[in-house]
Amino acid sequence: MDDAIVVGSGPNGLAAAVELARSGLSVRVLEARDTIGGGLRTAELTLPGFLHDVCSGCHPTGILSPYLRTLPLDRHGLKWLHSSISAAHPLDDQPAVLLRRSLEETARELGEDARRYEKMFRPFLDDPHGLLADLMGPLRIPKHPIRMARFGLAGLFPATTLLRGGFRGERARALLAGCAAHSILPLESLLTGAVAMIFALTGHVADWPVASGGSRAIGDALASYLTELGGRIETSRPVHSLADLPPARVVLFDTSPAQLARIAGSILPDDYLRRLDRYVYGPGVFKLDWALAGSIPWRDARVREASTVHVGGTLDEIAAAERAVWRGEHPERPFVMVVQQSELDPSRAPAGKHTGYAYCHVPPGSDVDLTDVVERQIERFAPGFRDLILARHVMRTRDLEAENANYVGGAITGGAADVTQFFTRPVTRLDPYATPNPRVLLCSASTPPGGGVHGMCGYFAARSALAKLRRLPSRLEPLHEVRLR
Ligand SMILES: Cc1cc2nc3c(=O)[nH]c(=O)nc-3n(C[C@H](O)[C@H](O)[C@H](O)COP(=O)(O)OP(=O)(O)OC[C@H]3O[C@@H](n4cnc5c(N)ncnc54)[C@H](O)[C@@H]3O)c2cc1C
Repeated sequence: MDDAIVVGSGPNGLAAAVELARSGLSVRVLEARDTIGGGLRTAELTLPGFLHDVCSGCHPTGILSPYLRTLPLDRHGLKWLHSSISAAHPLDDQPAVLLRRSLEETARELGEDARRYEKMFRPFLDDPHGLLADLMGPLRIPKHPIRMARFGLAGLFPATTLLRGGFRGERARALLAGCAAHSILPLESLLTGAVAMIFALTGHVADWPVASGGSRAIGDALASYLTELGGRIETSRPVHSLADLPPARVVLFDTSPAQLARIAGSILPDDYLRRLDRYVYGPGVFKLDWALAGSIPWRDARVREASTVHVGGTLDEIAAAERAVWRGEHPERPFVMVVQQSELDPSRAPAGKHTGYAYCHVPPGSDVDLTDVVERQIERFAPGFRDLILARHVMRTRDLEAENANYVGGAITGGAADVTQFFTRPVTRLDPYATPNPRVLLCSASTPPGGGVHGMCGYFAARSALAKLRRLPSRLEPLHEVRLR
């Protein structure tokens, strides 16, 4: 009997397995697909020789993850490739706004708001890793309460309130609206101010990187380290019911709450299942990947140097687009996230050619083909873009859900991170990773701190599992034979 089974090999599943194996336990990971990694897959989606990140593309939370930073992933082949500009935000009729590592250089881009921008971020830059460690986890007493309180007071506000109140010019507001849009929430929602601040802050701590060879290199490095620690991974092992699980003392699910309920419902109380059923997944995404004959011809040529490009125009435009998505509409001018992997990593495309990666938010389960809308939005800031397209690959919400059952309705971050589900996901519990059954835990992005490649959900779930394992007998009946009393 293994000590632990982990269902799913996304970054959180692998991080959970690594943490358990590092603690000397026997761990087995079961992955439904024939390749590992979940949101870390890379594939030739368009033409031979063009390597596209199927899901995650850019990794500020990966390089700054308080847990991943402790692992020897470089020894296992992971190499981060950095841009000199973390995020670029093109605007009509004026130069793009650029998020650079240097606070002063970034502020200089913002004209009349330069001093206000510096004042917003400088207090958090003397120990940003401490602040990030407090932010990237479940609700608990922070290690740096004063700094956390200062951050929380500003970040609790909706991004629209924070940015309209804090800045006078369009440039600072647009830059931070692009950062806030990573939340996939209406920018009028509480806490979207915090998301704007977190993403901008990460850009002042590390240049947002891509992984050499593709995001799959992150999963491969985690898997290689896990194997070195004695952990095992089995692919093409979908878990549909408890009977699919080999004997183990505890099981950690790197899955959606819906799947947890489907698979383990017979050993979880009705009240808990009802609460899981009320979990809100939020909007989905529509994703496009292109094989390109050259670099994207941004009107402001400096944008080419950025790993991520926030395409959506002003704060008002971005706020309107995100609001529309939550009303169930498809905005004419969506906020489009573009990542330029091949500008940093020549291995992604044949010599002289490039990959293109973009997605926008759409209502859950949307079946609308937004190819034209997305390409027009990029063309708006990069005239001639469409002439470079050699081939394209389209993913609607149902394609994403087929790629990974965790993307319910096409939602990519494990569920809406609104004020009720930000720290307390999937349900409000002192230990959100635990379920009422001590042998069943959730370790996916549907637990705090939520979506993104950082492994923190897996790490905290593993710590919770370790505490439970200390109290459980060493031999237990198989889970499918357990009867709920
Ligand atoms: C289009 C897109 C773009 C993104 N961009 C970024 C980005 O740029 N940066 C960033 O940090 N994050 C990004 N993300 C989010 C990030 O990929 C996820 O938040 C992260 O991968 C979640 O990790 P996880 O381990 O919780 O789950 P996942 O990565 O979803 O992995 C879950 C794994 O479990 C497997 N599984 C599910 N059900 C079962 C089952 N029943 N039996 C066995 N195996 C099962 C799945 O096949 C999958 O391999 C993006 C996601 C998408 C889809």
